[in-house]
Amino acid sequence: MTKYLRTTSSRYPNLTALYSIGKSVQGRDLWVMVVSASPYEHMIGKPDVKYVANMHGNEAVGRELMLHLIQYLVNSYSTDPYIKWLLDNTRIHLLPSMNPDGFEVSREGQCDGGQGRYNARGFDLNRNFPDYFKQAGDRNNKRGQPETDAVKEWTSKIQFVLSGGLHGGALVASYPFDNTPNSRMCRSTPLCSVFQNYASTPSLTPDDDVFKHLALTYSTNHPVMSRGVACKAGTPAFNRGITNGAEWYPLTGGMQDFNYVWYGCMEVTLELSCCKFPPASELPKFWEENRVSLVKFLAEAHRGVHGFVMDENGNPVEKAALKVKGRDVGFQTTKYGEFWRILLPGVYKLEVYAEGYLPREVDLMVVEQHPTLLNVTLHPAKRNDNLYRHPTVGDRLGPGPSPSYHNQHSPQSHTSKPASDGGIFSSITSGFNNFVSNIFG
Ligand SMILES: [Zn+2]
Repeated sequence: MTKYLRTTSSRYPNLTALYSIGKSVQGRDLWVMVVSASPYEHMIGKPDVKYVANMHGNEAVGRELMLHLIQYLVNSYSTDPYIKWLLDNTRIHLLPSMNPDGFEVSREGQCDGGQGRYNARGFDLNRNFPDYFKQAGDRNNKRGQPETDAVKEWTSKIQFVLSGGLHGGALVASYPFDNTPNSRMCRSTPLCSVFQNYASTPSLTPDDDVFKHLALTYSTNHPVMSRGVACKAGTPAFNRGITNGAEWYPLTGGMQDFNYVWYGCMEVTLELSCCKFPPASELPKFWEENRVSLVKFLAEAHRGVHGFVMDENGNPVEKAALKVKGRDVGFQTTKYGEFWRILLPGVYKLEVYAEGYLPREVDLMVVEQHPTLLNVTLHPAKRNDNLYRHPTVGDRLGPGPSPSYHNQHSPQSHTSKPASDGGIFSSITSGFNNFVSNIFG
């Protein structure tokens, strides 16, 4: 794989750039290939998007699909106007293998089981991220693994608008939340069966309409996933090929909840094959099934609203905190003052806060045909201006990190409670705490 990536990046220097975000436990590089008309530099005002594959080392289809996707994009740039538009207006970052050590010990043809799923220290990387619902959770997300730390660092440096995590073992697009306030009840097998009904309750985000749309964009363009047929007897069938993560089964420390809650990046988990590691001969079939979905999903980054937050002199305001009113998961501007938010057509209010400026609320309309461009000018707050309040997590971001939270290398060390006033998150959290203390004393 490394050789293939190196060869491709040297063959297409104008469309690709190869970089490593870190190393696995056993020292293998975690390669990311950027495919874009601007592979080396962020294009100001244009979104960065990503796919992360093979975080479970024995789920091999996503890894291979990433290599196919790279080839397809670079080959189509000069012949397909849609791909040209996409690469001219988007930077696509592809991490084909987040768990190369696990992949090394997994076996072609093994459809089930856990051999190769974990990293070299036995950690499940999709349980290893900081968790909003359960800070400092079980063993698996207490100690950040090198692979997880690399992805956390990467997502803190680049403001990704949209993301897909590629998995195998089922055929469904699963959207946040993966975790729920009730998930800790299910920590041993007997309890899991007792609380089965709780475990299958949906755990919906304030952006549920958008997440459903994103999941459907993937599934409905996939000829098999869209049918929503169960992989085999005894496994669930998913209506139209999508599900809420927690409704399927809740998990703590997952990557998609982390992307969304910490960085406002909308990530969907894409389960692409019933067999985790099918024979190589089946790969052309998987590529054909997923090709349109993989491209159309990423293009959804161009839906909704985007723009710049500036001061009165037209200088960018970095780390301004934004929130769409009624959607209590926030996002931030980049160092160029840019922001993006995927929204379905409708009328919205955007709330903008930044330290030293008066807060602003701006009306906006989103239409189907093209993204809404919205530039927001902030005016300075006077020193003893009562209107200015420093934004706190509770009144601004709901569950998300405070701006300083973003800068910390280990978000788990952050001890202040999220969402201390009002809003669905605080009520969920306190409900959960009450429930757990009732059950477990
Ligand atoms: Zn997986």
